Amino acid sequence: MLVILLALSLAVGVSLAACGDGHEGSETVTQGNLTAQVTWESSRRNDTVYASLTLTARIPGAMGAPDELVTLHCVGTLTPIRTPSPTPTPTPGTIDDKLAMYGVKLTENWLDEHKDSVFVAVQLVGDAFARARKIGETSASAFKAVYGKVHIGWGNCSECLGNGGYTYGYQSKGDYYLIRFVSLSDPGLYANYKLRQVNNVIHELGHLFNHVMDRAPENLLTNDTDPYKEGYNELLVRGTDRNFHYGFASSLNERVWVQNPSNLPTEVFADQFLGWVCNKWEIDSKGNLTDAGAARSDWMIKNMTEWLKP
Ligand SMILES: [Zn+2]
Repeated sequence: MLVILLALSLAVGVSLAACGDGHEGSETVTQGNLTAQVTWESSRRNDTVYASLTLTARIPGAMGAPDELVTLHCVGTLTPIRTPSPTPTPTPGTIDDKLAMYGVKLTENWLDEHKDSVFVAVQLVGDAFARARKIGETSASAFKAVYGKVHIGWGNCSECLGNGGYTYGYQSKGDYYLIRFVSLSDPGLYANYKLRQVNNVIHELGHLFNHVMDRAPENLLTNDTDPYKEGYNELLVRGTDRNFHYGFASSLNERVWVQNPSNLPTEVFADQFLGWVCNKWEIDSKGNLTDAGAARSDWMIKNMTEWLKP
């Protein structure tokens, strides 16, 4: 019986809470075969409702016994029932949050698996920068120190020419660097699609590094592959035979450690950037760097150390 009374009081409580400033009234509440007359008075001060409530219920007698009249009287305060406003709670640990620590923002509709590949790439690049800068930074701090703000967009990329990514460079309107992707390696096509995805992102970050350095890497590589210039090193020249490695960790046709086989210096540098970040170069059957692998590795270590000086 007490449970029934409590249920009825609650029903009235809701009415009271909703009734606002200074009210009194009377109402008949029915629940099942139970009828109760409720009278109340309420007044409100600030957020608190002061209420007095009288509840008279007629409880039907069980098994032929007479009905019982029960009266409940209570005076008290009611705290309004508030619906919590939906405050957006940041979910720490999402890939977007982690990327934000690197100053990287993904725009448009990214799949989670692609976001993850971007994050892996960004971490590897940040780690490599931190190692080269040698001032005890975190991966994220080193990445931000070099690139500032980076936006990476998905889809709608006219310069991507149908697949992969394109580095658009600095966008003065929003004060950030922009890379866009229209696709990343398809799991249906390659068993090593994850590595290909990560490497593709690192390759674009290599182009971005070239932008950040006002194309100093591209210009130096142009110089050092020109037989008429001082600094020429024939080992740095990337030929066109797709079965050859030319110092990279995979042949041109594999497109794993060579993301773009073009011999334009900007593409060669972006692939060398990938080799430098992951320390992956062409090795011989004994596991030693080939001459071309050593030449590219040395060139990168020497120049990246200079360009990355804090
Ligand atoms: Zn490229």
